[in-house]
Amino acid sequence: MESFGPEHMSSSSETPQKKNSVKSSGGVTPLMKQYLALKEQYPATVLLYRMGDFYELFGDDAKIASQILGLTLTKRNNGGSDDTPLAGFPHHALDRYANRLVRAGHKIAICEQVEDPKKAKGIVKRDVIEVISAGTATEDNYIDEKTNNFIASIFYDTDRTGLAICDLSTGQFWVEELSARELEEELARLEPTELVMSETVDESTIEHLLRQISRPVITRYDGWKYDLDNAISVLTTHFRVASVEGLGLDSYPVGIRAAGALLSYLKEQKKNGLQHISSVQPRYLGEYALLDAATIRNLELLRPLNAEDAEGTLLWTLDRTCTAMGGRLLRHWITHPLKDPSKISDRLDCVDWLRKDVFARGEIGMALRSVADIERLIGRIVFERANGRDLVSLMRSLRMFPRIIQIAASGAPSFISMQLDFIGGFDELADRIENTISENPPVSLREGNLIRPGVSAELDELRDASVNGKQWIANLQKTERERTGISSLKVGFNKVFGYYIEVSKANSAAVPEDYIRKQTLVNGERFITPDLKEKEEKILGAQERMADLEYGLFCELRAEVAKECERVQKAAEAIGKIDALVSLATVASENMYTRPVLDDSTNMMIRDGRHPVVEKMTGAEQFVPNDTSIEGDQTRILLITGPNMAGKSTYLRQNALIAIMAQMGSFVPAGTAEIGVVDRIFTRVGASDRLARGQSTFLVEMIEVANILNNATDRSLVLLDEVGRGTSTFDGISIAWAVAEYLHETPGRNPRTFFATHYHELTELASLFPRVRNLHVKVKEWNDRIIFVRKIAEGGCDHSYGIQVARLAGVPKDVIVRAKEILANLERMELTPDQKPALAEKRSGRMQPSSVIQTHLFVGEDSSLATPSISPHQPILDELKKIDVNAMTPLEALTKLAQLKKKLD
Ligand code: ADP
Ligand code: MG
Repeated sequence: MESFGPEHMSSSSETPQKKNSVKSSGGVTPLMKQYLALKEQYPATVLLYRMGDFYELFGDDAKIASQILGLTLTKRNNGGSDDTPLAGFPHHALDRYANRLVRAGHKIAICEQVEDPKKAKGIVKRDVIEVISAGTATEDNYIDEKTNNFIASIFYDTDRTGLAICDLSTGQFWVEELSARELEEELARLEPTELVMSETVDESTIEHLLRQISRPVITRYDGWKYDLDNAISVLTTHFRVASVEGLGLDSYPVGIRAAGALLSYLKEQKKNGLQHISSVQPRYLGEYALLDAATIRNLELLRPLNAEDAEGTLLWTLDRTCTAMGGRLLRHWITHPLKDPSKISDRLDCVDWLRKDVFARGEIGMALRSVADIERLIGRIVFERANGRDLVSLMRSLRMFPRIIQIAASGAPSFISMQLDFIGGFDELADRIENTISENPPVSLREGNLIRPGVSAELDELRDASVNGKQWIANLQKTERERTGISSLKVGFNKVFGYYIEVSKANSAAVPEDYIRKQTLVNGERFITPDLKEKEEKILGAQERMADLEYGLFCELRAEVAKECERVQKAAEAIGKIDALVSLATVASENMYTRPVLDDSTNMMIRDGRHPVVEKMTGAEQFVPNDTSIEGDQTRILLITGPNMAGKSTYLRQNALIAIMAQMGSFVPAGTAEIGVVDRIFTRVGASDRLARGQSTFLVEMIEVANILNNATDRSLVLLDEVGRGTSTFDGISIAWAVAEYLHETPGRNPRTFFATHYHELTELASLFPRVRNLHVKVKEWNDRIIFVRKIAEGGCDHSYGIQVARLAGVPKDVIVRAKEILANLERMELTPDQKPALAEKRSGRMQPSSVIQTHLFVGEDSSLATPSISPHQPILDELKKIDVNAMTPLEALTKLAQLKKKLD
């Protein structure tokens, strides 16, 4: 073993000799031959090669592991020519290390010994039993409980793209067909961790895609796997149907190709079957109000813009789910609001019922809290990864169903009663598990204590024998002490010698004749007797047989439960829905939300609307509610002006959030809300608001604006927050104006638009366009402070607010006066008679000397705004310039300051 690094010795009997190691001149050891053959089959993976109790990595894999896992890199020094790097770790660290490799974006192939090393002739047979990548990780340690781990396969055709999505941990699998643009948006909503696509897809396509979505792992896959024939054959074989029509996929010609390739890929990675992928659903995006990546980000639906606070998202506000299924579904509902008012109503009815019926909500919630992640559990059961605890956990979850049914049977609206059908009829399965598996089974499957008494007569007999034997041994110490008169005699057990009798040296003389000496210690000796060994054999034999028997019985049960996969999955889905609804009802009740009214109009009538997240931050009493009234065609664009920090952005977002909440089936933070269902929501935030994200290019902002102008419809909702800010003022105003005009004038593209801007010039739009309405956020002055009253009112804002704010902030009076002049000039947009910009024009004569100094210090020397030719205070300024502040003590500085002041006076 030394050739594989001294620190990880394997107990295996195979020891590649140093003299013919990896690539020595004499050829390759059989072991390395095996390794290299496997590596060839899984070239793009980090191969973890099991040797005894260790996983070993070779070559580049070892380098990667040492980098990411911090393992010591060793080299096989074989006379200089061979320096294959090596690294390894003990097998029990697999989960931890594999997880880190996967998170770092690597694909790992786990190679196990697939035969008993004791029985192997020569090299132990090994095979890759599983490949784990970001998108195919299913174990709890790799993935988050309340988030789906989606893998997506994409097939690009000339004008459509096929998208197949799977969460291997839950068995969900569905297919969509969409345009390239819709694809990007859908991926932004689903956030897959891995994208699979044909190796023929060109780099630029991928680059473009990656600009839109958070970084998944990209897997290039054989192009032919995307062939229609291959796809159809893989799908029909897996789902055991004669044709794809049987799957409802006949109108998804490109979707099928994405789905078939994905299934091929998954089958290659997971060898023990994918039976838990029991159906493939065709999905139609037209059902949902579409939210694109920028909107999800800007509205902070799932993640805060400021990554530091984990709170502050809509998900955070609404998620009070008790189960993992509910958590994952709620997330999906938030990013996929519905469009059909009657479907929305179905959900709202349930939220309404659960909100009012406090008892039902409490009881159902209580039951749900005891429901484990059965969707992933059944996956593990099918994968043959589940242990005794998993089965017990499933059983305990199933036991909660009757209570939920009992509570919901009376009075629950139809959407909930429909779910009850899916969670009924599990008693028998639960009984079967409960009657078989012991109450507190161990993690391990090989150590016994898994199966209850009464399940197998043979097992019970063996147990009795073992218990009796143990009892006999337990008595032995007493009887032998009496027989020999050695009061310190002990009976013990160790793995090497089994049971023994230990006698101290002092008592050696008293040892009876029938004792057989086995081991000599410093202070004593260990003996056995034929009787003892006979009993020992029985006990150990029984234990081994019991462990085998229990394991067999367990696997039998697990396979039986696996057959119920589809039914459990449906139940999991139903539980998720009930849970999400309970969560929505809970927040509705706690936050005083009301039931929205949805229809097919394009209205948006909200009285006393609130921002669901900001009100949590400020406290509900502190939050100032505001109205929104967009009715019929009379209003299309609301132009909201007001100083910084007044509450414009908050108002914009609260309207969009209320629409999303309403359409996902939630109650809303408002006195009343009537909303014509929205088909898409667009949210654009002017560049500088996103400086912190390092994405503040004006170009990005404009690309997003272009998307709105090209895709918004009369049913859409558009938020434009300070659009145009990322460029110069004139540029910005012009663009903002033209965008507003376009949205107002272009037939079929008249969305409900909220436009927040500090360009008060835009308020003039309202005088030109009948469906533009001005709103402003009120502020008050009080003593020398500005009070933000957060109230939205009709009409444009007092445009000199910025200057007033400056005044209130203590900017010297002369600067304020000057600023007012400049403003007046700007507003007239004039040029002076000698063709200079009016910006530089003065109206009130020369400034006073003292103000010159202040301005001078304030704006910097090269400012064109204030450049007096000679100042009477030049000597003082010169002196000031010469001062090296760093070289002065505070006292010196103070003295100097006093001197200068004196000179000035
Ligand atoms: P603006 O976009 O006009 O600069 P914001 O919408 O970002 O202003 O609001 C600034 C802050 O004011 C918010 O972070 C929030 O804490 C608070 N705020 C905004 N609207 C309200 C409101 N209606 N009631 C209470 N506080 C509010
Ligand atoms: Mg703002």
